[in-house]
Amino acid sequence: MNKKILVTGGGGFIGGHLVNFYQKKSFKVYSVDLKKKNQWFQINPKVKNIVADCRDPVVCDKITKKMDYVFNLACDMGGMGFIENNKALCMLSAVININLLKSSKKNNIKKFFYSSSACVYPSFRQRDYTKPKLKESDAYPADPEDGYGWEKLFNERMCRHFYEDFGLEVRVARFHNIYGEYGSYVGGREKAPAALARKFVEGISKNKKNIEIWSDGKQIRSFLYIDDCIKAVDMLFKSNFRNPLNIGSDKHVSINELVGILEKISNKKFIRMYDLTKPQGVMSRSSDNTLIKKVLKWSPKVKLEDGMKKIFYHIKKEIEK
Ligand code: NAD
Repeated sequence: MNKKILVTGGGGFIGGHLVNFYQKKSFKVYSVDLKKKNQWFQINPKVKNIVADCRDPVVCDKITKKMDYVFNLACDMGGMGFIENNKALCMLSAVININLLKSSKKNNIKKFFYSSSACVYPSFRQRDYTKPKLKESDAYPADPEDGYGWEKLFNERMCRHFYEDFGLEVRVARFHNIYGEYGSYVGGREKAPAALARKFVEGISKNKKNIEIWSDGKQIRSFLYIDDCIKAVDMLFKSNFRNPLNIGSDKHVSINELVGILEKISNKKFIRMYDLTKPQGVMSRSSDNTLIKKVLKWSPKVKLEDGMKKIFYHIKKEIEK
């Protein structure tokens, strides 16, 4: 019989892609999200799509019943602007994972996936532009991103203790800036690749001369295309690796370089207006992929230029609609 998979946050960016991936692999997939269905980024008609709130423990007991596997992607999150201004909301996502872990234990779930973040890494390790790579052991001594990062670090440990104390099999990914089609690109929750692609599309259609860039554009980041991310999640899930593992790109660029990539794709150069009042986030962050290469023999395949081309044309199509 086909195994049953529950994806929470299935109306969101990564969750939506994960739902499609497992549906195509013939799993019986159940997708749950808090948002009204007309706000889901993708709806796969071949799976069961449920609107429900995972902050409610009764809901979590119900949706995990008779499931084999649980993937928790549900979270109140966004880009730097959102997480710096909504620390309490971000921390409240802890309730979702706690409920889902408890219900998974109760309903004898075979394996549980938790989506953590590079925001668990301490700020003191992210100040040197020449050394952006963060390896898994760098998370301690702990000084994560206030609010969102603490929630993620706390829940990583919850997962670990649910395995140690109750034998629940857990897999934990630390995502580093995942980007691609069918995610937020407007409204305040979008991240740099989608936000900049949207600014290019709008700037071109409105014949603007300038483009706004948050902070000084010298921030270093790495960006992983969604297909590479989903492949790595599946490999991690199938593996025996129970500790948190980076899933990200180890090729870093500055935000200014990302703007340069969009200039080439769109064949358009704007005057760059730097808004120093906007949050910069950490100065320097990229994924050290030594461990994932060793454990899963995985490395990203999609070049940033190719992935950004896809997101640029996707957002253009969405806006034109
Ligand atoms: P997203 O915001 O697109 O998706 C999250 C979804 O969770 C949303 O659709 C939201 O409605 C839903 N949700 C929120 N509260 C809920 C609740 N109480 N009950 C049910 N659903 C609820 O975000 P995403 O980019 O797809 O991220 C998925 C996961 O990966 C999150 O845990 C996020 O913290 C983590 N992550 C993502 C990135 C990235 O670059 N996208 C980086 C690091 C970590």
